[in-house]
Amino acid sequence: MTPYGAPQQAVRIALNVNENTHPVPDEVIAHVAASVERELHSVNRYPDREFTRLREQLARYLGPRVAPEQVWAANGSNEVIQHVLQAFGGPGRSVLGFPPTYSMHSIIAAGTGTRWIAGDRDAEYALSPATAVSAVERVDPDLVFLCAPNNPTGTPLNLDTIAAVYEASRGIVMVDEAYAEFMPSGERDAIDLLPGRERLVVSRTMSKAFAFAGARLGYLVADPAVIDALRLVRLPYHLSALTQAAAVAALEHAPTMLRTVESIREQRDRLVVELAALGYEPHESGANFVLFGGVDDPQATFQYLLDHGILIRDVGVPHHLRVTAGTEAETTEFLHVLARMRR
Ligand code: PMP
Repeated sequence: MTPYGAPQQAVRIALNVNENTHPVPDEVIAHVAASVERELHSVNRYPDREFTRLREQLARYLGPRVAPEQVWAANGSNEVIQHVLQAFGGPGRSVLGFPPTYSMHSIIAAGTGTRWIAGDRDAEYALSPATAVSAVERVDPDLVFLCAPNNPTGTPLNLDTIAAVYEASRGIVMVDEAYAEFMPSGERDAIDLLPGRERLVVSRTMSKAFAFAGARLGYLVADPAVIDALRLVRLPYHLSALTQAAAVAALEHAPTMLRTVESIREQRDRLVVELAALGYEPHESGANFVLFGGVDDPQATFQYLLDHGILIRDVGVPHHLRVTAGTEAETTEFLHVLARMRR
């Protein structure tokens, strides 16, 4: 077996793991640093096991539709997903997913002894209610994982599909919304579907739009009874006092932290247009990255870009590569270098 590992290389332009490539604004850094420093005075003690202030801040960020007792958090949404599978999966249980999708879903399933079952997608990686429901009926899984927008394809997911999967299934339905903030603003998301659906779980992260990947803070929203089940599997004090302080401080600046989102959406849309103009076949994306096909030799293209200081990602979809939408300058350089390459 091989461990998960996007190459971590020191390059000028890293567009390989869908981070927000804009640094955290200075005024937020100052506040986060002061909060972490304050916390250090009591770091001889264990942290608040219930991360009460953080849950309150996350609920506030998500708006009046979410109460703090519906929120769970961990060190990245990967750990949140692991908690879900530790609590509801395990030996003798199965989880249905729809590849190509986020690779850690099946890896965490394997690590928790949960059987991973792959369902089919429609053309262009879409997932219609009918296609998803027929897989649920055939497999009768204990859990269903959906990813909206889907990584690595960028494909948005219709709320009708989520609602139909919920109706057709008997167990936990988790929607991984790591890239939710990049969807068109004002659009309804899976959190809007939570009332009356006590088996629905929506996971989010501060690693993407929120530009906080290095701090490691993921979270989910669900019925309080689901949150109670997660308390059974988390390790005591899993969220460090310093992580909690940093995340609380950053959330107090949410509008500032998110002010690059519109520009990233513009660069994403520009990538779709300009990659097509270069003769590639980009797929529709609601996230901060674009998967593009029509790549004769992905390894050669990947290497050519790397030789020019630009790191993107080969996600294993034949004749495809994936690129993160960076700053305007980074996106411009990526497109210029790609245009210069002889295909
Ligand atoms: N879900 C999806 C769909 C992702 O793409 C990622 C990161 N690439 C994650 C979850 C995990 O992110 P993190 O652990 O940083 O929250």
